[in-house]
Amino acid sequence: MKENAKELKKVLNSPKKIVITTHRGPDGDAMGSSLGLCNFLMQLGHTVNVITPNEYANFLHWLPGNDDVIIYEGNEDKADAITANADLIFLLDFSHLSRIATFADAVKKSNATKVMIDHHQDPDREIAELIFSDTTACSTAQLVFEVMEAMEMTSYLNKEIAECLYVGIMTDTGSFKYASTTAKTHHVIAELINAGAENAKIHDLIYDNSSANRIKLLGYCLNEKLRLYPENNAAIISLTAEELERFEFKKGDTEGFVNYALGIEGIKFATFIAEKDGMVKLSLRSKGDFKVNGIANKYFSGGGHMNASGGISEVSVDETITKVEQIINEYKTKLNKTN
Ligand code: 5GP
Ligand code: MN
Repeated sequence: MKENAKELKKVLNSPKKIVITTHRGPDGDAMGSSLGLCNFLMQLGHTVNVITPNEYANFLHWLPGNDDVIIYEGNEDKADAITANADLIFLLDFSHLSRIATFADAVKKSNATKVMIDHHQDPDREIAELIFSDTTACSTAQLVFEVMEAMEMTSYLNKEIAECLYVGIMTDTGSFKYASTTAKTHHVIAELINAGAENAKIHDLIYDNSSANRIKLLGYCLNEKLRLYPENNAAIISLTAEELERFEFKKGDTEGFVNYALGIEGIKFATFIAEKDGMVKLSLRSKGDFKVNGIANKYFSGGGHMNASGGISEVSVDETITKVEQIINEYKTKLNKTN
């Protein structure tokens, strides 16, 4: 970290044209870390563009700097031109170029120096010259803070940077409750609050700002769509495109639903399946040492963290349910182990 930080500080010594990008389906950590870094780099006098592969949830649209984000899908020409011209490209919250989908080509082609800041497993070391990877870190947002710290530049922290990084850390730690939350995380959060992050306001804007339709959809999911496999400590929730439409689904509405299934006594493995954008997407969550990233990778062309992963399925929602049921059955010995 120290050596890389020294190197990065040197690069940032003169004004640069910078692109920051993050994974497809950007979540709170993807947007929080990207916009936090963007606000920091702009303060240093750089020209910065955040380019996301696609749209993201409305509850993240209040983040400072959001209005200037370029969504790659639909703005390909503009984004390609900016990327081709960049001196520096930051890759945040992902470790393989496949995660930025159609934007990957432009990033690969660009001669810019690439800098990865990320906490996912097995980073592809070929895609960046400077790599800040810590798979034990709770969030990429915390790593952005640690990079600022290692460059001895935390004096640049302001309210905008602090609120973005707070969102990243808060969302990726399930509001500071996952095992990845450390004393360091709380120290960083203290610094962010000192720098002006309004913690109560942020929690409210992210978690207590749902449309009535979202809450009704949650009720429908739990009442009508929850399948329990108590003998194997597993649960599945699924939604078809038609059901989502019925509740006027907006991007981000189903975020966190899978955790309700995992919150049931005894459940160690929960899967949420939803048909979105013509794809069947899965969210896998687990407790303890039951690892879901291997399952996401083996069966659903995905990956992620040990207890929180995702992927896609090539078959229908119903067939995907059957596939997950087979997986539950295959892993039943592990799921029944007490730990
Ligand atoms: P979510 O279920 O919230 O969409 O994703 C949870 C975590 O799984 C993400 O933070 C990310 O690390 C990982 N993930 C989700 N979808 C994919 C995917 O399609 N491919 C890979 N490699 N990881 C994913
Ligand atoms: Mn993350």
